[in-house]
Amino acid sequence: MFDCHVHAAPDVLDRIGDDSDIAAHYVDFGCTGFVLKGHYESTVGRAHALSRSSGLRVVGGITLNQAAGGVNPAAVAATLTAGGRVVWMPTADAHTQQRAGLPRLCDQDPRLDRGVFAVPPVDPTAAAAAELVLALIADHDAVLATGHLSGPECAWLLDRARHYGIRRVLLTHPSYTVPGLSPNDIRELSQAGGVVEITAYQLLHQPNCPPALLAEVARAAGGGLVLSSDAGQPNSPPPPEALGRLVDSLDRAGVDRGLLDAAASTVPAELFLI
Ligand SMILES: [Zn+2]
Repeated sequence: MFDCHVHAAPDVLDRIGDDSDIAAHYVDFGCTGFVLKGHYESTVGRAHALSRSSGLRVVGGITLNQAAGGVNPAAVAATLTAGGRVVWMPTADAHTQQRAGLPRLCDQDPRLDRGVFAVPPVDPTAAAAAELVLALIADHDAVLATGHLSGPECAWLLDRARHYGIRRVLLTHPSYTVPGLSPNDIRELSQAGGVVEITAYQLLHQPNCPPALLAEVARAAGGGLVLSSDAGQPNSPPPPEALGRLVDSLDRAGVDRGLLDAAASTVPAELFLI
């Protein structure tokens, strides 16, 4: 398996273990590698150190929340030039996150700005910065991940990604609470070139999200599907075990097993690795 979405300590939120603990789980499970995601910092240095120490393929990147300066081309240029492979659009500081009442860093300190981030068509003033971010992603043949942005923003990003020649677009868990897209919306975005992510976190923790709904999303994605754990929470199983549970659950819900196995291994590996 190659898990293209996991969290580890040190982080702002509690995690099940630190980088070394998480990597050891993947080694034990015979995984080939993983993508280390942080909502609040570039994970490039940590991923590099883990690649050296574990022998796995470990990938890092940056998420464009307030701590990175939002949709900030300088943060993206620094990350990708240093070897980062993925740029996640705003997640914890996306406008969708605020509307859904989900946790944000600024909740922890009232002195922090409560501003949110968006791209067109929600925030047309963000167009120039977002376009430069996309141009940088194209230059580095990196992965554009849509974060928690809304359906219309995902459609805009896919359209502009095509313009810049970006070959790797990941629709970040589109059926999760944020952005909360329907299987039909997801099918359209998938046909526009986005690879669809389903996470074990959704199976384990998302309210009103039975396996049958995730199976419908998997069918909407067709071959453009990746399965990831998005684990690392203290109340989730070790990440590779969480990912295995997701595969088994979708299998029992009637999704083709070969497609599921590819979605947890070769498809994400080809998406992220050069
Ligand atoms: Zn995550």
